[in-house]
Amino acid sequence: MSESLTPNLLLRFWHFPTLTLGPGRRLGIWLQGCSIHCPGCIAPENQPFDPTRAVSLDALFAGFAPLWAETGLNGVTLSGGEPTDQPEALRELLLRLNQCGPRDILLYSGYTKAQVLARSPWLADQIAALVDGPFLATAPATESWRGSTNQSLTLFREEFRDRYESWTRLQSRQLQLVRKDSGRYLIGIPRPKDRAVWQGLAQEEGQRD
Ligand code: SF4
Repeated sequence: MSESLTPNLLLRFWHFPTLTLGPGRRLGIWLQGCSIHCPGCIAPENQPFDPTRAVSLDALFAGFAPLWAETGLNGVTLSGGEPTDQPEALRELLLRLNQCGPRDILLYSGYTKAQVLARSPWLADQIAALVDGPFLATAPATESWRGSTNQSLTLFREEFRDRYESWTRLQSRQLQLVRKDSGRYLIGIPRPKDRAVWQGLAQEEGQRD
């Protein structure tokens, strides 16, 4: 008899509180691997489908468990990499998040909304909002919530409209630098010059270690 197994997720890292990618204090989850390869990608280290980054969803949710009691947690953001490149694991991840986490789930995809919903039509029922479209280095955005002006936000859960409208009006770009599990991560949407500064700082810090 064949046994159905929960798919593993290729994970870059997760972090709470994530303050710079979605409104409020959020659990940020970055999936590893992206098939899109935008020229000028803002996170090239997240592109390889690196099998050494595989984690079981059970282990991941064991790590999340203390967060559900956090009164300050009011959203989840999924980014990458490209989350929709792992449809089975993503679907299971979202089903579990909708059972035990906040209903405000924001997903960033480098595919357009039409492509996302053609690939994964079930997604519209599982998330509150989607930011879609590839990063276009030739169309840089000034807003803090998107990297380029071709990207747009679609709301699937009306209850969060006010929250997202306020958030997309923010013009100041904020970034978080975090150090976790021997890795250093930049959270938010950096401009190319921000990435260069961050890489310099990470290099200096690495030399001091
Ligand atoms: S979708 Fe994101 S991670 Fe993928 S290549 Fe484009 S910018 Fe990079």
